[in-house]
Amino acid sequence: SIMPATLSAISNSAKSGVLFKGGVHVENLSHIKAIAFDKTGTLTNGTPEVTDTYVHTDWEKEKVFAIAGAIEKESIHPLAKAIYAFSTDYTNVHDLNIHHVTTVSGHGVSAYVNDETWEIGKAGFVGEKDAFNFHGGVAKQLAEQGKTIVFVKANDEIVALYALKDTIRNNTKQAIETLKKHGVHTIMLTGDNETTAKAIAAEAGIDHYIAECLPDEKVNHVKQLRTDYENVAMVGDGINDAPALASANLGIAMGKGTDVALETADVVLMKNDLSKITNAINLSGRMNRIVK
Ligand code: ADP
Ligand code: MG
Repeated sequence: SIMPATLSAISNSAKSGVLFKGGVHVENLSHIKAIAFDKTGTLTNGTPEVTDTYVHTDWEKEKVFAIAGAIEKESIHPLAKAIYAFSTDYTNVHDLNIHHVTTVSGHGVSAYVNDETWEIGKAGFVGEKDAFNFHGGVAKQLAEQGKTIVFVKANDEIVALYALKDTIRNNTKQAIETLKKHGVHTIMLTGDNETTAKAIAAEAGIDHYIAECLPDEKVNHVKQLRTDYENVAMVGDGINDAPALASANLGIAMGKGTDVALETADVVLMKNDLSKITNAINLSGRMNRIVK
């Protein structure tokens, strides 16, 4: 049966916006030694915006933006939404026969435009060597500013690059700092490239980061963290995060996250506020002292 102190911790947490799905999770939170965070939508707001674009001089800018926008319209990825929104200024381009749009999770999206093959996505998806050399290697310096880089390839040639910036949530830095003071290790998991990941981790004050992390690799990284740190929580918001949430000692979902993440998690942060985790840790610690 559930102890009165546990019940009171659950109800006090709920009032502050942290929903525990059972008493055992309160106990587990007090033992957590490391927390892994998904980047997009968890540490950041998850609404990236296009900040810079570069189009190959042989190509008509309007046409490239219109095509990329039309292709990304078919994808629900936050980057795709931003690239589509950016393209709505270029609606004077017609007669595009775009077909066979295929999204490749963790990589990008491909399609046919008339009989040309187009690919939009990360460097590894369009070919790293050409991607990093595009426009005098501009990708590197944009990534150093914490921007995500998306390349556009048409028939084996890089024709454009988008840089997108997603802002860190208001309470992220404070939350990470407080966790570190409590002796909790913080790790960021992201599908983004090494350079961007490093810049965002520094901005957020995160101890470690794992970049180029494919959606189905998150589970293995969480398992590895469990051997390194014993008791590990995972915080995420996306459909792709659900398996990782389930494989952590404690799965924590952002309240505005996808249904699957909310369902899989043991704890839900109602207001998307990471700083509530530290409040809950304090409460769980107090509760355990009372129970024992
Ligand atoms: P994260 O979950 O860290 O935001 P993903 O694993 O979804 O990243 O994607 C990794 C990388 O693949 C992105 O940073 C981007 O470069 C590329 N990518 C994925 N999906 C798309 C898309 N629909 N359009 C353009 N690029 C994409
Ligand atoms: Mg996410």
